[in-house]
Amino acid sequence: MIYSYSRLSLYETCPYRFYIKYILGKSEPVTKPLALGKAVHKAIELKINGETEAEAIAAGLIEADFHPEVTGEEMQQLLSRAPMEVGETEVHFQLPLGSGISLQGYVDWIKKDQFKDWKSNWRPYGPNETWQLMLYAWALMKVRGLKQIRGALYFLRFRREEAYVYSLLEAVKARDWALRLAEEIELKISCLDSFSDMKSFLFPATPGSHCKHCPFVLDCYSY
Ligand code: SF4
Repeated sequence: MIYSYSRLSLYETCPYRFYIKYILGKSEPVTKPLALGKAVHKAIELKINGETEAEAIAAGLIEADFHPEVTGEEMQQLLSRAPMEVGETEVHFQLPLGSGISLQGYVDWIKKDQFKDWKSNWRPYGPNETWQLMLYAWALMKVRGLKQIRGALYFLRFRREEAYVYSLLEAVKARDWALRLAEEIELKISCLDSFSDMKSFLFPATPGSHCKHCPFVLDCYSY
């Protein structure tokens, strides 16, 4: 399995939801936040690269597969608040984490030794409240041969940027977090081959406030 921040974070939040989604391969319904995020990212990317606002919004709606809750009006509002800075957009990276495991991700915007992740969330948070920014900082420094990099979360609804300058020494903590979780998952997957009835022991359900956004409640043995 190739790992990403979102996979690892899902496993850390609830191993059983990870199991249902990534091991059983059950698809999740596309929620409004997910569809809106995809649509807005597409629109910002195109606008930065020279498309008109109307073309960018239309492409965003197509990207979201015309999700019924994603409107052109909300996209226009978010697009108007996006930082229109020239840079590389939607940059893919894939690199070894260690132990034969790979990490991949997409970075929304990069310019020299700076990168940004655009967020359409309703609640802003700090750069190091999750491992995402630090993990991307580590990956970009490795891939681009940098010794430090400025990473930022840009909260579109609030025109608010939360930034942090990472050194490679510091960002390696995020690599260690990712590698530890990925190794743990790989070990559990290999145990499942021999002990398939131990799935709820190896990938336990961890009920909490996150369950209200979980599409697998009906599949969950803890409910
Ligand atoms: S309902 Fe809650 S505990 Fe069950 S799989 Fe979903 S997130 Fe995990």
